[in-house]
Amino acid sequence: MSVLIVGAGPAGARLAIRLASSGWPVVLVDRLTNPSANAFSSAALPIEAVRRLELPAETWSARWQGWQLHDPTGSMHQWWACSDLGVVLDFGKVRSWLWAEARRLGVELLQGCRAHLEELDSSGATVRLTDADQRVTRRRSRWVIDATGAGRGLLGQLGLSGSGSDSLLSGCGVEWLLQANDRTASPWLDRLSFFLGTNWIPYGYGWVFPMAGHQLKVGVCALPPRSLPGLGLHQALTSLIGRLGLSSCDVLDRHGGPVASTIHRRERMGQDSLLAVGDAASSANLLGGEGIRHAMDSADQLADCLLEQPASLPSEQIQAIYRRRVSTQQSWRWSVSGRLARRTWWGLNNPKADQRLSKLISGLSARASAQDLSDLLFNYRFERYGLRLLPYLI
Ligand SMILES: Cc1cc2nc3c(=O)[nH]c(=O)nc-3n(C[C@H](O)[C@H](O)[C@H](O)COP(=O)(O)OP(=O)(O)OC[C@H]3O[C@@H](n4cnc5c(N)ncnc54)[C@H](O)[C@@H]3O)c2cc1C
Repeated sequence: MSVLIVGAGPAGARLAIRLASSGWPVVLVDRLTNPSANAFSSAALPIEAVRRLELPAETWSARWQGWQLHDPTGSMHQWWACSDLGVVLDFGKVRSWLWAEARRLGVELLQGCRAHLEELDSSGATVRLTDADQRVTRRRSRWVIDATGAGRGLLGQLGLSGSGSDSLLSGCGVEWLLQANDRTASPWLDRLSFFLGTNWIPYGYGWVFPMAGHQLKVGVCALPPRSLPGLGLHQALTSLIGRLGLSSCDVLDRHGGPVASTIHRRERMGQDSLLAVGDAASSANLLGGEGIRHAMDSADQLADCLLEQPASLPSEQIQAIYRRRVSTQQSWRWSVSGRLARRTWWGLNNPKADQRLSKLISGLSARASAQDLSDLLFNYRFERYGLRLLPYLI
């Protein structure tokens, strides 16, 4: 059965690899001409996911063993483990590796092509492709997949990028890649550092992640309850860089992008022969601001769904099976983490919210280990903190 996947990020490329491995003819399209361009993701992952998803060492940039949180008062708290807790990937290299794998398995990869949905019904869809020289071609396929990320390019064309009755958490992140030296990089090596509180940035958080060769990814992300034009992400980022004494570092790259997920993932994930995957299907977790492993898991979920069903099954039934699978495979922890994210980010705009956050961080500082923090932020193990987290949920 033919499949055309729009978007060759972690979700689209992984789906292409899975389907091509089972002998399906797959076309994979991305508007990027080069997999290293616009490497917007900070790309921190827990070690378990790096191993499970078999991300090769060539895609790793640095390992980390600790957490460092800078609270709203400016105090710094650290937690260290004896072994690696995770990896910061080079997002450009992740894409390069995925694209090479896809090609090796026979996927037709069209780089530098922007896709637009032209016709859609339950037997197939036609997509218009415009290449970098503005040449236009058309492709018809039994399935078209929206893997365009948080922008939900194809769903948006159908008016399906909304969240229905489910709350949509959305925002934007910007990040600069800085060239530090052995002295300026050392306070940030081997750990993920976060900056939490309105003093750093309202409605969001800042971060410094280490990369190989004394490079640092420094970024800020804000998820306000509605679009706030005066929020000034760039200003918050330059101010963060200044406060950290990193203003004299060369800026090697500037990038960023949208983030958006519904809390319960109850929205429609397609129509007729169009299905969504990855960030376009709200797979990103916005409590910890991470989505690479979830985008790849989402691709596996959709691949299993397509591969298991008979080719003759009508589109509506596949849509229903996919929907059911997404909701049954989702644990209650997912919704709790979404509600915590909404409560935390939407409310982080006043001194009371700062106080609450400082108290929570002090509590974690006194009682939790580095592994506990990973369990909380990556595995959503909240039960241990039950009553202390309640104020965030109510
Ligand atoms: C600033 C920032 C920091 C982040 N940090 C982390 C982190 O530390 N850890 C983590 O796990 N996650 C992080 N994320 C989230 C993570 O990057 C995403 O969840 C992940 O990339 C989603 O993968 P995806 O394949 O669904 O979408 P994407 O990676 O967004 O891929 C979508 C692809 O579609 C292409 N595309 C879009 N529209 C079209 C079109 N019309 N035609 C053709 N191609 C199109 C784009 O070029 C892109 O390559 C971060 C996100 C941001 C914005």
